[in-house]
Amino acid sequence: SGKLKVSPTFEAMNLKDDLLRGIYAYGFEAPSAIQSRAITQIISGRDTIAQAQSGTGKTATFTIGMLQVIDFKSKELQSLILSPTRELAKQISQVVCNLGDYMNISAQAITGGKTMQMDNKKLSRGTHVVSGTPGRVLDMIKRRILNTRHLKLLVLDEADELLSETLGFKQQIYDIFAKLPTSVQVVVVSATMSRDILEITKKFMSDPVKILVKQDQISLEGIKQYHVNVDREEWKFDTLCDLYDSLTITQCVIFCNTKKVVDWLASKLTQANFAVSSMHGDMKQEDRDKVMNDFRSGTSRVLISTDVWARGIDVQQVSLVINYDLPELLENYIHRIGRSGRFGRKGVAINFVTRQDLRKLKEIEKHYTVKIPAMPANIQELS
Ligand code: ADP
Ligand code: MG
Repeated sequence: SGKLKVSPTFEAMNLKDDLLRGIYAYGFEAPSAIQSRAITQIISGRDTIAQAQSGTGKTATFTIGMLQVIDFKSKELQSLILSPTRELAKQISQVVCNLGDYMNISAQAITGGKTMQMDNKKLSRGTHVVSGTPGRVLDMIKRRILNTRHLKLLVLDEADELLSETLGFKQQIYDIFAKLPTSVQVVVVSATMSRDILEITKKFMSDPVKILVKQDQISLEGIKQYHVNVDREEWKFDTLCDLYDSLTITQCVIFCNTKKVVDWLASKLTQANFAVSSMHGDMKQEDRDKVMNDFRSGTSRVLISTDVWARGIDVQQVSLVINYDLPELLENYIHRIGRSGRFGRKGVAINFVTRQDLRKLKEIEKHYTVKIPAMPANIQELS
């Protein structure tokens, strides 16, 4: 797609003054590669597929495009953003509010885990943008609490996850689609796009602009990747304890494959007097919120989680990701390690590998055309 127009600066995008002010006030100076290509396409009204590596500013890409086209004279819901987790939906809504700070934007996160009444009250005062998870959004559309009649723009963030056959959102997305005006502009965003996903998007996009990354460029150069041979499952715990001091230099996320292992590991580390927090999908929402707040504020530095944390969550201080278990889904490897190294920062990923995992490690190396060597003995070399 070398013919695509590239805007080297935010000024070159002809944005509204109060939007430009919001962008600079938020601390952005120049657009990233995806921003300089995709924002003006979104503004032009075309359906857009935007793929770019983790941490390269895809949220601001669709948010800036969206803020430029919202009619602020109207109080109707004009833009809907769907994403796979409650935490991500809230994070996106926050970015919309921040970038739209000078525009009197009204944005709201709509997620499961709390009562609908609370959302209902705010919505009735008029909301331009809703950022939500598919289940709750569909529910609220069906109950006519969310009125989609004036919707102009639909964004699917982490689109491949939302549309995957196995994860259970696909039907909800289709059902939501059926409730939207046929003229709605669709923007699809992710770091990973499979051929299947591109096929599916054909069903509800017309002649989309495609901004794609070649598969061998998806890996993240800023993130050093290592493995540690732990031989047997039982050795993982001691290996992690040995690493603990380096985990707390900045902030670290430890991924396990099941909620059970997350709980087990968190309580074992706590018993051993290591300060850790943990989060997974079976926890009460208020507990999840507290864990997120503490981690975002830096009050907690080591977070143990499942793949509920794999996608989209942006905490700039995270510089280390540990795969206590290698991910079950190959795609999630790049999403997990991409929680570090945000917007060009340096990151380190350490993979715990049992004897049974050796084949999977090879698969990951092959899929991402990357070498994942043994971790250097001197842990200081990591930073
Ligand atoms: P992605 O969705 O591509 O993984 P995010 O949208 O979460 O990435 O952005 C990653 C980080 O980069 C965020 O902290 C965001 O504030 C920051 N960021 C995005 N665009 C810019 C920019 N143009 N200049 C500086 N920082 C940016
Ligand atoms: Mg993102």
